[in-house]
Amino acid sequence: MPDQQVGQPKNAHAAHALRGSRAEQATAQPKVKRNTWQREAVRAALVEHRGFVSARELHERLCGQGSTIGLATVYRAVSDLAESGEADVIVSPDGENIFRFCGTHHHHHHLICRSCGATRELEASVVEDWARTVGAEHGFAEIDHVVDLFGLCEKCQVARG
Ligand SMILES: [Zn+2]
Ligand SMILES: [Zn+2]
Ligand SMILES: [Zn+2]
Repeated sequence: MPDQQVGQPKNAHAAHALRGSRAEQATAQPKVKRNTWQREAVRAALVEHRGFVSARELHERLCGQGSTIGLATVYRAVSDLAESGEADVIVSPDGENIFRFCGTHHHHHHLICRSCGATRELEASVVEDWARTVGAEHGFAEIDHVVDLFGLCEKCQVARG
């Protein structure tokens, strides 16, 4: 299997968009698990980091701890985790893919601090109803959606004065 292009995590993003749908299970399957020490190190760093984080930041953090891991490896590992459903991947307001180890596997939404990355998982029944209704009104079926909210958390509001 050819390696994914670094810097083009299209599959990972698609995996998130499909979360909670049947298509995810159909497409995420037969994938060779790369359980290298690097992958485990990246997973551990992602679990430790509570909010969303970019591959670049995660790489810096690992290097700060003395790791010799390469940025490309970090990118591939977080993309793999996102593809297998262990991590969420979303596009930040800066257009960068950011990742988070996610507590829940079912469909959900996020409230994310754009300053520090602190994240809350959200259920949003209003959004679910709205998506279904609007889709049906236009004759669409199998509607998927990605709705994440960005803002400033209380801590960062205080820090900003
Ligand atoms: Zn999540
Ligand atoms: Zn914050
Ligand atoms: Zn939803």
